[in-house]
Amino acid sequence: MNPARTPLIAGNWKMYGTRADAAALAEGIKAGVADVSQREVLVAPPFTALETVARVLRGSSILLAGQDLHWEAKGAFTGAVSAPMLREMGCTHVIIGHSERRQYFGETDESVAKKVAGARAHGLTPIMCVGERLEEREAGQTLAVVERQVRGGLLHCDAAAIRTNVVAYEPVWAIGTGKVATNEQAQEVHVFIRRILADVGGTEAAGACRILYGGSVKPDNIDGLMAQPDIDGALVGGASLQVESFVRIAKFVA
Ligand code: PEP
Repeated sequence: MNPARTPLIAGNWKMYGTRADAAALAEGIKAGVADVSQREVLVAPPFTALETVARVLRGSSILLAGQDLHWEAKGAFTGAVSAPMLREMGCTHVIIGHSERRQYFGETDESVAKKVAGARAHGLTPIMCVGERLEEREAGQTLAVVERQVRGGLLHCDAAAIRTNVVAYEPVWAIGTGKVATNEQAQEVHVFIRRILADVGGTEAAGACRILYGGSVKPDNIDGLMAQPDIDGALVGGASLQVESFVRIAKFVA
């Protein structure tokens, strides 16, 4: 972390939990992070639990995010949810281009770019995910893949947008596998992403943009990751579904 950027610890609950489960998880996190300061904590429940979780989180500073959205504000797009709908639920952020969306739902850099722009147009902060697959890392293509995804996803963003967007670097081989990138591997890619951000939006915007690491973040590796100067937080999957582990991650010591 770098004191110039407020760390952000975000939990992606994916497709887990009834509303009752989500309420209990949110209650636990709310109580657990009540004394946490100088960092932001965010949760991204399934769409169906957003209203419930928003109600539980009222009075806390925990932020709420959607896990995806459609780039249009409304229309005949069965199954989709728009930025104004997420705003109405109390969301301030939205995850875009998660590798599971890319892998299972055909998300492309083009659709990510449209969603990033659509989110921003309605006042939502995008958490734009990028990251290489295992075969791409093994073929030495990590930086090329990440560069294509970052430039592609930010196609419609100016410097002001880049300044406030959040980027999440999530090597696909580390998501849900228990294989975390080493601190050095993560830092190297984060520095590279910041360099691309500077090229696209200037050094001031790049210096302000938060870049999260995601991929098997756990209580026992968060402190080492957060000690890296270009890691500004974490996007947490599995470990965000348990109060104790997520609260410990949010209470990282860098
Ligand atoms: C994720 O889904 O964004 C993620 C990083 O998952 P996990 O922490 O389970 O690897």
